[in-house]
Amino acid sequence: MSFMGNSESQLKFPWTGELDAVTGIPPRKALDISLPLLLRIMGEEDLPLSAIMIDIDHFKIFNDKWGHDTGDRVLRHVACIIRKTVMYRGEAYRYGGEEITLLLPNASLDEASITAERIRRNIYDSPLEGQSGNDDESSPVSLLVTISLGVSTFPAVAGSELLVAADQALFEAKKEGRNRVIAYNAGKKKDESSPVVLDVRFPAASSISEGSYIILTRWFRHRGELTEIEAREISDPGRSRREIADGLAPEEGYVTAEIRGRVMAVERRGDSTFFSFEVEADVLDLMFHHLKERNS
Ligand code: GH3
Ligand code: MG
Ligand code: MG
Repeated sequence: MSFMGNSESQLKFPWTGELDAVTGIPPRKALDISLPLLLRIMGEEDLPLSAIMIDIDHFKIFNDKWGHDTGDRVLRHVACIIRKTVMYRGEAYRYGGEEITLLLPNASLDEASITAERIRRNIYDSPLEGQSGNDDESSPVSLLVTISLGVSTFPAVAGSELLVAADQALFEAKKEGRNRVIAYNAGKKKDESSPVVLDVRFPAASSISEGSYIILTRWFRHRGELTEIEAREISDPGRSRREIADGLAPEEGYVTAEIRGRVMAVERRGDSTFFSFEVEADVLDLMFHHLKERNS
């Protein structure tokens, strides 16, 4: 798969005008200028152009609970992670309020969806550190920020409809629970990161309750199946890393990882606690793939 690595994918029209004061990225008017130009060039070169509409989830809460300055910090934080993730492959614009539009020249719908998912995860994995107040009593807080993303691609979608389609996919992402990517696919939407629910047995009575977050730390493979999962509750969903650790546990068949997710339902039976644990499908794929490689 070519992955937006060639020179054609580099930006044709980097914005040299004034940047948005809050986010440090080009403003809406830059998008209004760049989009038609990019559409024309990409059309002439027979290359795709993808748009990603990004909206911060429940952003109003940051403003209401922590103040407008914190809201601004969240905006900057999100814009910064988007730019770091995308680098020269695209340009992000502040569309308005807490919405950012990303244009990715020469990125197919699938490629743009992968980028979108990477951005979503990078933000999910980077809680914003701050203080609960300005006085001596203030304590460190860690704010979990999530975003929803809608992806669309020209020429499958007409240039004039590109942002509308991405916005429609974003709307679906919000409707389906936020913190996810939806790709607009000629009327059909494709969910790149729909959660799957795992039923997990916690080996002891536990205080884990619905809505809390847990980390899976150790997976046991028995006769080709994952048969046992070690889990612990975390109070702060933003702090752990949801990646496979570099060092694998020495025991045969074990994989050390830190995969977190939300507890959907809890049931206590004897000494055990059973809970339904919501985890992203792509993360599970990664785990299975890793186990397969390790055991082959
Ligand atoms: P949803 O998950 O549905 O997107 O919910 P939301 O709370 O993010 O959406 P809503 O549109 O209700 O809230 C957006 C808020 O963003 C309202 C507005 O006051 C705030 N906002 C817009 N621009 C700025 C800004 O530059 N700085 C700050 N701090 N807040 C802003
Ligand atoms: Mg929002
Ligand atoms: Mg909004």
